[in-house]
Amino acid sequence: MTSSSFSALFLIALCAGLLTRLWLANRHRRHVAAHRDAVPAAFTGSISLESHQKAADYTVARVRTGMLDMLISVALLLALTFGGVLQQLYELSARLVEPGSLLHGVAFIAAVASVSWIVDLPLTIYRSFGLEARFGFNRLTPRLFITDTLKGILLAAAIGLPLIACVLWLMGAMGDLWWLYVWGFWLGFNLLVLLVYPTFIAPLFNKFKPLEDGPLKNRIEGLMTRCGFRLSGLFVMDGSKRSAHGNAYFTGFGAAKRIVFFDTLLDKLEPAEVEAVLAHELGHYHHHHLWKRLAVISAGSLLFFALLGHLAGQDWFFKGLGMSASGTAPTLVLFALALPIFTFPLTPLMSMWSRQHEFQADAYAARQAPASELVSALVKLYRDNASTLTPDPLYSRVYDSHPPAAIRIAHLQAATR
Ligand SMILES: [Zn+2]
Repeated sequence: MTSSSFSALFLIALCAGLLTRLWLANRHRRHVAAHRDAVPAAFTGSISLESHQKAADYTVARVRTGMLDMLISVALLLALTFGGVLQQLYELSARLVEPGSLLHGVAFIAAVASVSWIVDLPLTIYRSFGLEARFGFNRLTPRLFITDTLKGILLAAAIGLPLIACVLWLMGAMGDLWWLYVWGFWLGFNLLVLLVYPTFIAPLFNKFKPLEDGPLKNRIEGLMTRCGFRLSGLFVMDGSKRSAHGNAYFTGFGAAKRIVFFDTLLDKLEPAEVEAVLAHELGHYHHHHLWKRLAVISAGSLLFFALLGHLAGQDWFFKGLGMSASGTAPTLVLFALALPIFTFPLTPLMSMWSRQHEFQADAYAARQAPASELVSALVKLYRDNASTLTPDPLYSRVYDSHPPAAIRIAHLQAATR
C-alpha cells in the first residue's frame, strides 16, 4: 500500500462513517419529534403526556449535542493527522526531553491526550450545566465539577503515565512479537481495574454505605438465597450528588461480588420493584454475560494488537496519516485514532448481542420475581430518566444496548402468561 492510497482509504471510511452516523441521528431526532404528541398505546395508563413530551425533548436535545460532538471529533481528528498537529506535538515534546527516548514517547502521548481533552471540555461542561440542567437532572455544582476534574487528571496521570511507559518499553524490548506481550499486559491491566475499581477508585468520587436492615434488605436476601447467589455486600451510593438519574450495578468477582444501588434508585422504586431489577442483574450473572463479553473482547483485541504489530513496520501507515516520524509512540497514537473509524460497522453487531443478553436477563428475572414488578420498575425508570419510548427503529438497531421499551415490556408480559 502507498501512503496516498491509505490516506484516501482513511478519508473514505471517515466520511462514510460520519455521514452514516449523522443520517442515523437525524432519523432518530425526526422520529422522536414526530411521535411527541401521543403517548404510545401500551403506556397510556402509566406515563403522562407531559412526561412523554419531556422525554422527546430531552432525546432531541441529546441527539443534537451528539451530532455537534461528532463534527468536533472529526475536525479534531483531521487537524491532528492531515493538519500536522500530531507531528508538531511530537517535535515539541522532543524539545522538552531527550528525543527518541521512552520519556519522549510518554510526553508525546500525554500531549495528544491533553489536546483532545481540552477540545472536548466545552461540550463536557455544556452537557452537565446546559443540557442536563435544563431538564432538571444535573446535581453537579461547579465546585464539585472542578474537584472531580482535578481528581480525574491526577488519577489519569498516576495510572496512565506509568502504564504508557510500560507499553512503550514492551514495544521496544520484546522483539517481533511485542504486540503479543502488549496485549497480555493490556488484558491484565483491564482485569486489575475491574478488581480494584470498586474498592479503591470509586470511593474517591462517591460515598458508599451498607444497605440498612429492613424490608428491602430482607427481600434481597430472600432473592439471593432463592437464586443460590452469594454476595459480599450490599451498598448504597450517593449518586444524587451528581445526577438525578437512577441506577444499580454489580461489581467485583468471585467472593468479592457486591451490589451497589444509587440512592436515587431506592427513592423511586418500591422494594418489590428493586427486587425485580436485581433479579435482572442476577440474570446477567447467571448467564455469564460479563465473562462472555470479556472473552469476545480479548479475542477481538488480539486481532487488533496483531494488526498494530504489522502496521508498526509500515511506512505508509505513518505518512498516510500525516506523520513523518515513526516509532512506538506514534504507532500507538495513530492506531488509537484510526481504529474506531474502521470498526464502526461492528457497532450494530455488538448492540444486537447486548440486546440478546438483556432479553435473557429479563427472562431469568421473570422466573425469579414477578415480571409485573420489573415492568413497573422499567416504566418508572423510563419516565424518570426521560428515556424515549419511540426511538427510530433503525437507530435503535444500530446503537441500543437495551431493547426498545415497548418490545422489552411485551416480552416480559408474554412471560407472565
Ligand atoms: Zn441488563
